[in-house]
Amino acid sequence: MRLEGEPGIVASYGRVMYLSEIGEHALLQFPDKTLKIVAIASGATLYDASSTTISINVAELGTHPAEEQCATLCHETFHFFHDMLDPPNFRRRNTLSSRDFDTEEEELTITGTCPSVRDDAWDHSLFNENAVLRDRGLPERTSHLSREEEEERKSGERPTVVSTVVEIPMAQPRGQIPAHVMARLQRKTSAKRTGTHE
Ligand SMILES: [Zn+2]
Repeated sequence: MRLEGEPGIVASYGRVMYLSEIGEHALLQFPDKTLKIVAIASGATLYDASSTTISINVAELGTHPAEEQCATLCHETFHFFHDMLDPPNFRRRNTLSSRDFDTEEEELTITGTCPSVRDDAWDHSLFNENAVLRDRGLPERTSHLSREEEEERKSGERPTVVSTVVEIPMAQPRGQIPAHVMARLQRKTSAKRTGTHE
């Protein structure tokens, strides 16, 4: 995919995605489609289909461990994939309720399957949030509750309240991003600024 946005947030998005091989692989999908990345100071990190944009609440995301950040950004990216693959079915799944996951679109994005999914020749078994969590050795999600709410439900206790932190930088990757990938990310952001496309 092509990435569009301020170079800082686009590079942060790329670094966090690169923490998982699945995220790395995701960056190579839909080479002719453009995903916009925007940093926001309040509100939820989410994919907005009306503007094909992932809005990232950097301060909030920064309170989570790096590998959860990766799972969250992969999750939003997989909504983008579903939107690009089959817009009518993406919209339809957003209206179909699911007992534990709010909607079938959330169920598909988190687990890789849902009752209404069709065989659309797309590897949902690779591109789903639980696959990323498994890949990183983290527990899978069993609902669309936040991770904190899921912990609370499991333990029956209130989670520890973390005081509000205003500025926390995005996690640094443990390894270097290969030069060719970083070059591609930078080329994409600079191509946008000059109005040209690869
Ligand atoms: Zn979602």
